[in-house]
Amino acid sequence: MDNFIVSARKYRPVTFKSVVGQNAITETLKSSIRSGKVAQAFLFCGPRGVGKTTCARIFAKALNCQHPAEDFEPCNECESCRSFNESASFNIYELDAASNNSVDDIRKLVEQVHIAPQGAKYKVYVIDEVHMLSSAAFNAFLKTLEEPPAYAKFILATTEKHKILATILSRCQVYDFKRIKDDDILKHLQYVAESEQITVEEDALRVVAAKADGALRDALSIFDQLVSYSGKNITYQATIENLNVLDVDNYFKMTEFLFHDEVSDALLLLDQIIDRGFDAQHFISGLAAHFRNLLMAQNQMTVKLMETSDAIKIKFTQQASKTDKQLLLRAMDLTSQCDFNYKMAGNKRLSVELCLMQINFNYTWKKREQEAKVRQSRG
Ligand SMILES: [Zn+2]
Repeated sequence: MDNFIVSARKYRPVTFKSVVGQNAITETLKSSIRSGKVAQAFLFCGPRGVGKTTCARIFAKALNCQHPAEDFEPCNECESCRSFNESASFNIYELDAASNNSVDDIRKLVEQVHIAPQGAKYKVYVIDEVHMLSSAAFNAFLKTLEEPPAYAKFILATTEKHKILATILSRCQVYDFKRIKDDDILKHLQYVAESEQITVEEDALRVVAAKADGALRDALSIFDQLVSYSGKNITYQATIENLNVLDVDNYFKMTEFLFHDEVSDALLLLDQIIDRGFDAQHFISGLAAHFRNLLMAQNQMTVKLMETSDAIKIKFTQQASKTDKQLLLRAMDLTSQCDFNYKMAGNKRLSVELCLMQINFNYTWKKREQEAKVRQSRG
């Protein structure tokens, strides 16, 4: 796969429609163009890799598009769209404040604000990572933001909304971007795989989505990593090996042991897992997540809250039907506590072992109680 182009770049959306998982925001932006009531300044906030800069660029392009589509998507064909796509637009400026944060950088930018746009309706300024501007740069920018010419539009993006001065916030229409749902990431990865003629198991993509934690950009770069490792055929097994992810079967087995009289097997399994180089805290938080899924699987209404493939949902439903709800709740509480206290624990391995033993103890205690009741009722 010598000439595999980085998916994050190749599959970067160029229309609102193709933006993943931010439907509410893209619809609002389009309708603001439709109604002709476009605010002067926008602030796009949210975690990294969820499409803030992508949306800012599409919006900038849509504002100046000469032949916008019926639903106000940029055409990507007119002179304005093309010059922007070729990074040669005279009316749309981009500044990455992470690397250009001095007062001079901002001055250079705002000096041009008063020159009217050429052959376009607006002059659009996209400032990425705006919280990185120095305070002198912020102040210089604020002056422009206070009295901008009508044709100037500002789109600011940040991962750290709390660092933005109130004076700037109050002048912006604020959009909060959410982390992207695993299912949406999954669908997009499936689309990329199909377009690149790569066969990939759904569970492998689930692992990628979980690892990306809501950031599509991260998901795509992990996907690239897998392609360079596995080629055109990506299996679940190769994925967990490559990403050093613990196979979900370990959690099913561990649960089986804990909710039976098999605590020694549970401790041996933990030993194997640690031996294979997995972090004990990772394991315990994974186990907590597994218990949560089991609880969700106990009720038809909440099954959809599990972010896993249908095949694994069935496994959860089967295990859930054999597991006592009250014990499961207590087990979840114990694993969460263990996870929470892990960093402070003197003997970390012991703290995890103790947690497993307590879960198993709750099980055996309850079982004995039930047996005693049966004996009593028999008199
Ligand atoms: Zn256009």
